[in-house]
Amino acid sequence: MAKKKILLVEDEEKLLANLADKLQAEGYDVFSAADGEAGWELVQGDSFDLIVLDIMLPRLDGLSLCRMIRNDSRTADVPIIMLTARGTEVDKIVGLESGADDYVVKPFGLGEFLARVRVQMRRPLMDRGLQQDELISGDLRLDLTGRRVFKDEEEVKLTNKEFDLLTVFMRNVKAVLSRDLILTNVWGYDYYPMDKRTVDVHIRWLREKIEENPSSPKRISTVRGVGYRFEG
Ligand code: CA
Repeated sequence: MAKKKILLVEDEEKLLANLADKLQAEGYDVFSAADGEAGWELVQGDSFDLIVLDIMLPRLDGLSLCRMIRNDSRTADVPIIMLTARGTEVDKIVGLESGADDYVVKPFGLGEFLARVRVQMRRPLMDRGLQQDELISGDLRLDLTGRRVFKDEEEVKLTNKEFDLLTVFMRNVKAVLSRDLILTNVWGYDYYPMDKRTVDVHIRWLREKIEENPSSPKRISTVRGVGYRFEG
């Protein structure tokens, strides 16, 4: 049987070497990159059974890289484990659709890391993350592959950001999403912190397109002092 291929993207040389050694000893074929862009090049040129991404990376951060991998149909299903240094980063991974399947907080033991790698290697494709072709809520239908939105089967034209925003909402029905969480997941880690009113402005535009009566919204409610909630 061919060895399973793992890609490690980590800029801490010692950690990278350690992880690579351990994984090789476990029988995996290990590839590595020391920055996000080099990682992306490898992702595009090869196929991997698992990708391990550090969040803080030079040139292209791990969360952006994670999203790029998820948005490419050739790599959308590859399991991803994120490595994170701080608690605040954990929020960004688990809070919403970063697309990662699991994460490990530094400093971690190699035993724990290997256990998580094994779990991801065992998971059947069907069961993985948030890979769906469409999201449906009432008369709204999101075609995730074609990036189109239909209301009562009539297409609603959304901008890229409005589409991403609606996707985040429809994947988190009834959850209160803070502006921070929305900013991080729709605009990306790179642009954070950006002016939070940006979120309000885009919500207003989105409401004009999907609400029956935008001045008294039923789908996207404002949760005062906190953020927004998609009601379904
Ligand atoms: Ca790092």
